[in-house]
Amino acid sequence: MGKILVTGGAGFIGSNLCERLVTYGQKVVCLDDLSSGKKINVQYLMEKPNFEFVNHDICFPYHCEGIDQIYNLACPASPIFYQDDPIQTSKTSFLGAFHLLGLAKRTCAKILQASTSEVYGDPLIHPQKEGYFGNVNPIGLRSCYDEGKRLAESLFFDYYRKHDVQIKIARIFNTYGPGMDESDGRVISNFIFQVLRGDSITMYGDGRQTRSFCYVDDMVNALILLMNTDHSVTGPVNLGNPVEYSMLELAQKIGSILGVEISFEFKRLPEDDPKQRKPDITFAKNILKWKPTVQIHDGLEKTIEYFKCLNKTK
Ligand code: UDP
Repeated sequence: MGKILVTGGAGFIGSNLCERLVTYGQKVVCLDDLSSGKKINVQYLMEKPNFEFVNHDICFPYHCEGIDQIYNLACPASPIFYQDDPIQTSKTSFLGAFHLLGLAKRTCAKILQASTSEVYGDPLIHPQKEGYFGNVNPIGLRSCYDEGKRLAESLFFDYYRKHDVQIKIARIFNTYGPGMDESDGRVISNFIFQVLRGDSITMYGDGRQTRSFCYVDDMVNALILLMNTDHSVTGPVNLGNPVEYSMLELAQKIGSILGVEISFEFKRLPEDDPKQRKPDITFAKNILKWKPTVQIHDGLEKTIEYFKCLNKTK
């Protein structure tokens, strides 16, 4: 049995994926430069004999032998993080994909790219199917991430067509759950912490924009299933939970779980903030025999518990 490389393995989805693979008895090499990932996310895995952590930035080549699979999850994914150093975000998306595809080619490893619903930009088609080419502003504040991820998809397909590299592309929609960074400015972490502290909820725009939220365990299941499909399955495959909520509905849900009357502080909607987002997951259902199983209420309860524990240990 060869090793599995997880880049961005100390990040939110990455650390949940590493944990699952280690539990399955796989040999996991977790690569992370800790720019947005956190070592604490994988600290408890460090004692496991089948887990190795390597501090490495994928903008530089990484050499390794005996790899069967590569999950490329390395990239800051929340808007405030990826916009903080946008040039680095573009470099990570492109150079990271380039170096890892080279590694996959040389070692004959399968490689899965964590792409994103952001490739659809502010979509004009609803829900979004994989065949939709998207509505992306190429020069906006989000473009370092959106265009970076689009270019990575393009590069993946060129390595597939030119070099027969076994590629898998997952378009990941909004995901939440334990392991989320409390300070990454995402809507679920922001709202939970604001309600826990008794603060007003920061609502950007009028709160009628929508998102669909997938619990991280469901996402990890899907990623592993996709990686283990045969060579003919390249994707791109939408992965997410198609149940759609407005941000106002989401805030109400968090308030009701915590039994708190919520109040809002309305703020300007960030530039290019998509008005709606919801995956069509027909392809994933057919090809992976997968669908999300965790309801938002249960997922939010678990996430709230995680954040409460995190705060207690501080
Ligand atoms: N949002 C909000 N208040 C916050 C954080 C986010 O109203 O404190 C909104 C944000 O403008 C967007 C939605 O929630 O419309 C989801 O934002 P997030 O950053 O979680 O993800 P993304 O925009 O990348 O889907």
